[in-house]
Amino acid sequence: VLATVSPTLYFENPIDSTQFATSSPTTKLFIDGKFVESNSSEWLDIHNPATNEVVGRVPKATQAEMVAAVDSCSRAFRSWSETSVLSRQQIFLRYQQLIKDNIKELAKLITLEQGKTLADAEGDVFRGLQVVEHACSITSLMLGETLPSITKDMDTYTYRLPLGVCAGVAPFNFPAMIPLWMFPIGMVCGNTYLMKPSERVPGCTMLLAKLLQDAGAPDGTLNIIHGQHAAVNFICDHPAIKAISFVGSNQAGEYIYERGSKNGKRVQSNMGAKNHGVVMPDANKENTINQLVGAAFGAAGQRCMALSTAIFVGESRDWLPELVERSRSLRVNAGDQPGADVGPLISPEARAKVEYLIQSGVDEGAKLLLDGRNVHVKGYENGNFVGPTILSNVKPDMKCYKEEIFGPVLIILEADSLDEAISLINRNPYGNGTAIFTTNGATARKYTHEVDVGQVGVNVPIPVPLPMFSFTGSRGSFRGDTNFYGKQGIQFFTQIKTVTSQWKAEDATVTSPAVTMPT
Ligand code: NAD
Repeated sequence: VLATVSPTLYFENPIDSTQFATSSPTTKLFIDGKFVESNSSEWLDIHNPATNEVVGRVPKATQAEMVAAVDSCSRAFRSWSETSVLSRQQIFLRYQQLIKDNIKELAKLITLEQGKTLADAEGDVFRGLQVVEHACSITSLMLGETLPSITKDMDTYTYRLPLGVCAGVAPFNFPAMIPLWMFPIGMVCGNTYLMKPSERVPGCTMLLAKLLQDAGAPDGTLNIIHGQHAAVNFICDHPAIKAISFVGSNQAGEYIYERGSKNGKRVQSNMGAKNHGVVMPDANKENTINQLVGAAFGAAGQRCMALSTAIFVGESRDWLPELVERSRSLRVNAGDQPGADVGPLISPEARAKVEYLIQSGVDEGAKLLLDGRNVHVKGYENGNFVGPTILSNVKPDMKCYKEEIFGPVLIILEADSLDEAISLINRNPYGNGTAIFTTNGATARKYTHEVDVGQVGVNVPIPVPLPMFSFTGSRGSFRGDTNFYGKQGIQFFTQIKTVTSQWKAEDATVTSPAVTMPT
């Protein structure tokens, strides 16, 4: 039996972290339009990464609770899929306004649980909001195709129809943007949605769910469960779930892709990255250095599109001292402190891994131009901080090059030509994002055509596509056929039905049975 409780502290006073620390509020499940306390005996602590204080707890939902959530989605699908497209559009028009009205509250929750700076957290919400705004164009996006008169009196047309119950599994690094890549597009197409946020940052998704309910989404159209492996296995196996969207690490993404696909589900899986920025000697030096520093160290490097690897071509390598000085000037601090540029990493384990990979680079012969280990952040001595770090002389066989570091570490390689840089990037197993810095159009064109990476920026360090396009990914960074949002997102969440109809005039009767295929 699911016990209904009053809304969680996440909604009433999500910001007072001292209150969180002492009372450790519980994160509710969202089932059939109600925020309910889990009956689970297994709970995980949620930490503020700037202090490592416990700010809340999240349950591993029980089997019965997960079944109740999917059943609710299945029931709601019957009426939601028949709701007029204009009604669904109206709900998302209201939703985008509610997200705008609550952007600061959402951002505070993100900073509390994830650690990024408040300004960056607002950016996180804003980029997700853009997807919701795009979802409001569903009346055009979901159009089918028609071809009249394919033969005498015969017309063919297609409908795009929802799939049923769809599910999303999200990572910790974009608590607003990535869930908003998932359920708004799925739901506006007429599907109902089961969301499993990252167990490390569930608060923002809970507030997003509350706002969607306030916007008028009927009970059961969005359900939220929490947990880790068992919840993911449940999603991969439950027969009512028709499609899974995953964003996160390769370890989890490959697994979910395989298990979900084996069970006959559509799966789109966005995974890890090692994004290279190529610096040509003809680039605008000032812009390039600033863009590299921002893209390598923003969000403490915990972005799948962070430019974590720079390849300096030819004499652009002379710019390294200025790059180091600019990086050194960034302020490392708790995300809610004024002037903070670089916040903490998500956990002590993440910090240990980043520090280990820095040391492995040093041990394997890289040059440590800037060392962010042992950074001291006054008042936040227990936080998971690593300051901007730069390793040069890195070679492709070093561990720090081969592994995704996911921290504020920029590693630097050198190349003698653009061809050498492209070849290096195309040999890397990942293909998420990349950027080239140049003032030469022909160089930029060659690069964009030859590099095998999903998102390519030309003098744009983090080229995350706006929602009228799709977020893609190549090679080890993506599994699946259709990508997130944009036209591909609509394709992912719909199936095509093709209708061929013949309406003959009354006097044109079919006079004999046709036993051969029409030619
Ligand atoms: P993660 O894979 O640890 O967790 C993501 C989700 O999967 C969580 O909900 C978690 O509960 C679940 N999970 C974790 N391990 C699992 C396992 N072994 N089996 C089943 N489920 C599991 O990822 P994270 O640490 O939260 O996020 C960081 C990663 O996400 C980085 O690799 C980053 O590059 C990637 N990422 C990719 C994109 C993209 O669009 N390509 C965007 C953001 C983040």
